[in-house]
Amino acid sequence: MRQIFLLILLFIVGQWLVKALRRHDAQASQRTGSGANGAAGAKGPNGGAGPTASAPAQLPEPMIRCVECGVHAPQSDSVVVAGQPFCSAAHAQRHGARPTGRDAR
Ligand SMILES: [Zn+2]
Repeated sequence: MRQIFLLILLFIVGQWLVKALRRHDAQASQRTGSGANGAAGAKGPNGGAGPTASAPAQLPEPMIRCVECGVHAPQSDSVVVAGQPFCSAAHAQRHGARPTGRDAR
């Protein structure tokens, strides 16, 4: 049963990565798209002289920490129930179904 949650988590992370890559591509095309006279673009791999290689990548959106499992997830993919953030609706339901008292074993 735990493997299903792992698969769901992998799926969410994959989607987030695709989103981030698309954003990166859009920014790059906006930068290089304006200069149409750059004919040397087809020579070798570009992007080697980027000064931003040492700078840490800026997070596109704030991350939240799931109350149920402690996994950090992007805020757009999170589910907030009763003011508490969760990484997925399944965890929100699991957290809500659990009795609040910890004395039940
Ligand atoms: Zn979770």
